[in-house]
Amino acid sequence: GTYVADDDRYDSLEYRNCGRSGLNLPRLSLGLWQNFGDDRDLEGQRRILCRAFDLGVFHFDLANNYGPPPGSAEANLGRVLAKDLGSYRDELVITTKAGWVMGPGPHQRGGSRKYLLSSLDRSLARMGLDHVDVFYSHRPDPDTPLEETMLALHHAVVSGRALYAGISSYGPSLTRRAAAIMRDLGTPLTVHQPSYSMLNRWVEDGLLEAASDEGMGVVAFSPLAQGLLTSRYLGGEVPSDSRAGVGRPSWRENMLTEEVLGRARALNQIAAERDQTLAQMAISWVLRDQGPRTVTTALVGASSVEQLEQNLRAVENTEFTEEELRDIDRWAVD
Ligand code: NDP
Repeated sequence: GTYVADDDRYDSLEYRNCGRSGLNLPRLSLGLWQNFGDDRDLEGQRRILCRAFDLGVFHFDLANNYGPPPGSAEANLGRVLAKDLGSYRDELVITTKAGWVMGPGPHQRGGSRKYLLSSLDRSLARMGLDHVDVFYSHRPDPDTPLEETMLALHHAVVSGRALYAGISSYGPSLTRRAAAIMRDLGTPLTVHQPSYSMLNRWVEDGLLEAASDEGMGVVAFSPLAQGLLTSRYLGGEVPSDSRAGVGRPSWRENMLTEEVLGRARALNQIAAERDQTLAQMAISWVLRDQGPRTVTTALVGASSVEQLEQNLRAVENTEFTEEELRDIDRWAVD
């Protein structure tokens, strides 16, 4: 039958302004990097996406290259929009990016105006949309002038292809320069999307501060370190249906070391004392109060509805005692 969204979809999950903008994001967001390619059945994808929306997760994050194959996550979201979620388009925050390799030659990678704008048009066609809510430069490109990349983002916005502009994985000083360029152009940079987890704390070294100073919201990706900060690997076995088990290219063999497992097990103990799973604590911790540097939303992946539902409960418990934070710091380092 036709999908009808839950009337209570805004009642349980908190959402907040993205930086100094009027764009709001739920504190948990769903990413389609993995688990939404052509290697997964569409019905399972549909279930996760519709359940997410019913629970208040109205922000779906994509990029041109998500799949596999590249582009298929956008095409699959387009299918679910056409059949189920499309009538809720004005409630959904759908984001995409360009920057990583999409194909051969110099204009299917990097930060040129040529790549960013042609890629955005392809992304819109795959999703069947006339605009995205945020268009990101997916990564800094040392071989393209920053001004050119920012002009392309600005053009994406003024031409109506995107409502807001964002950057991903830019360091603190480049972020400040990018924000200044965009301010001059008249299109503020609204979002920064960096990686951030208990095992990856680079953003604490000036990036959260830069984003906050510039009025940008922060969308923290891979808060579960691709699954390392969950119960999936704690027993020492690699489940055959896991990201490690399937051998996805993003999963490097050297990530699952005894050292990392030891950290995860110690953190799991602390989580248990908080009545949380490790996955929940990992998300709660990313969302913890850091004053003006507090992360706007944790951007997670999920291979099942159950994972998503478990992760959502993390948002209810983002308070940590000083002692808990100190305990966590003993294990949560790069
Ligand atoms: P996470 O760190 O959230 O890892 C998600 C994976 O963790 C899932 O696929 C699943 O693995 C496992 N998992 C999730 N919840 C649970 C649970 N409750 N219990 C057990 N295992 C669980 O994030 P991702 O690395 O997937 O990245 C999230 C999003 O961030 C992406 O989809 C993308 O939108 C964005 N991103 C952006 C990047 C950028 O450059 N801007 C780069 C990378 C990601 P399994 O599949 O094994 O079940």
